[in-house]
Amino acid sequence: MKVCIIGGGLAGSLLSIYMARRGYDVEVFEKRSDSRLKGYEGGRSINLALSHRGIRALKELGIAEQILPLAIPMHGRMIHDLQGNQAFFPYGKDNSEYINSISRGGLNEALISIAEEYKHVRFHFETSCQDIDFETNTIYFNNQLQTQADLIIATDGAGSVVRHKMIATGKVNESVDFLDHGYKELEIPAGKDGSFLIDKNSLHIWGRDSFLLIALPNLNGSFTVTLFLQNKGEESFETLDTPEKAKSFFHKYFPDALALMPDFEEDFFKNPVGVLATLKTYPWVVNKTLILGDAAHAVVPFYGQGMNASFEDCIIFNDLIDEYKEDWDKILSVYQEIRKKDTDAIADLAVENFYEMRDRVNDEEFQRMRKLEHLLENTYPKYHSKYSMVTFHPEFPYSVAKAKGNKQNEYLLSLCKNITDIQSINIQDVYEKLKNLS
Ligand SMILES: Cc1cc2nc3c(=O)[nH]c(=O)nc-3n(C[C@H](O)[C@H](O)[C@H](O)COP(=O)(O)OP(=O)(O)OC[C@H]3O[C@@H](n4cnc5c(N)ncnc54)[C@H](O)[C@@H]3O)c2cc1C
Repeated sequence: MKVCIIGGGLAGSLLSIYMARRGYDVEVFEKRSDSRLKGYEGGRSINLALSHRGIRALKELGIAEQILPLAIPMHGRMIHDLQGNQAFFPYGKDNSEYINSISRGGLNEALISIAEEYKHVRFHFETSCQDIDFETNTIYFNNQLQTQADLIIATDGAGSVVRHKMIATGKVNESVDFLDHGYKELEIPAGKDGSFLIDKNSLHIWGRDSFLLIALPNLNGSFTVTLFLQNKGEESFETLDTPEKAKSFFHKYFPDALALMPDFEEDFFKNPVGVLATLKTYPWVVNKTLILGDAAHAVVPFYGQGMNASFEDCIIFNDLIDEYKEDWDKILSVYQEIRKKDTDAIADLAVENFYEMRDRVNDEEFQRMRKLEHLLENTYPKYHSKYSMVTFHPEFPYSVAKAKGNKQNEYLLSLCKNITDIQSINIQDVYEKLKNLS
């Protein structure tokens, strides 16, 4: 059984381990060079939030103990207001519920190295897929190389060449929704002796109505800071076109963060503005070729779930191989059928969370609701907030977390609108009502 994986990013490298463990002959073709030898492209420290769905895959493969030491636990959101005051809101009900900041490059390299420990896994770097013949399962690469496989899985990311080739057959549709916002990565460097200049174990958020700044910690004491801002308009990436304008914008809205960014001007003008879009596509299969991960369902990053969802794709796909005993037509068709509703749900949740983080984190009603939810979670172990279901409870498929979580939020927000002190609420009554909602 020869499996070819196109794209050795996060999903492709993890999937190669799943496939190798089954004894298949696995070849992974990656467009970029091997960052373990040549350094990560871009060179900067970019990190992601790894949570329970992703960790579940690592545990299943027995590699969590190798990977998790590369991550920094983030126990809650640290909200920064305009005056520089900070308020901490825990994510989960106890110390076991937290998310993890991990370097994208470091994680990718670790997964590739683990995969390469299997003799029948080969990574081909600087080998970019150019075309694919779905009838004969033949892949054509930039360097005259071509190969055939029994099964082809394309994990070549949001801009997937393979998806575009599928669309060209007329058998696959896609929709792409761009946000009006883009993003730019900046950095808070480490303090003296590698110390962290803001709380190490928090995801920091500066929500400012129509835009947002976040910061996630890195092992070396620095923070990767991301500005999410409109592409056009009065205060936008388009208008922040001189160092003076960019600095005065930060001075006005993020003075405490600016004070910690000595290289602000250089970073702001050197680093590109990234595009934020939701990609939905279907079907994901043409003959024996499947698209998986961002290639099939890229989401905006506001739930911190794109990679986690892609890792969960691998778990589900692997389970179906057991269930349908290598009946590939069945496995591929069942996989796309059962997975699509959940990846659509996380795509919608991520957009909803963008508006929530941007517009509501400083809103008193919303903060009361978060406190009430926290109280509920701590009082009733069976109660889970929407965030908790998505982030810490893979037993709730994304589509279930979305439906149940939105109903809960609607009720709790309506309750918090009319009261100022959550202690005055009869929590048992609220819990009973919530139970009946679902
Ligand atoms: C700003 C930002 C923040 C994010 N934060 C989070 C977060 O906190 N948590 C989270 O879970 N997710 C997050 N994500 C989403 C996450 O990055 C993606 O969901 C994840 O990288 C998807 O993995 P993938 O392997 O499918 O795609 P990718 O990681 O994009 O990997 C695709 C790979 O395919 C290779 N490739 C592309 N074309 C070809 C070709 N033609 N031939 C061969 N190889 C090719 C690429 O070089 C790359 O290595 C974030 C995304 C962004 C943009």
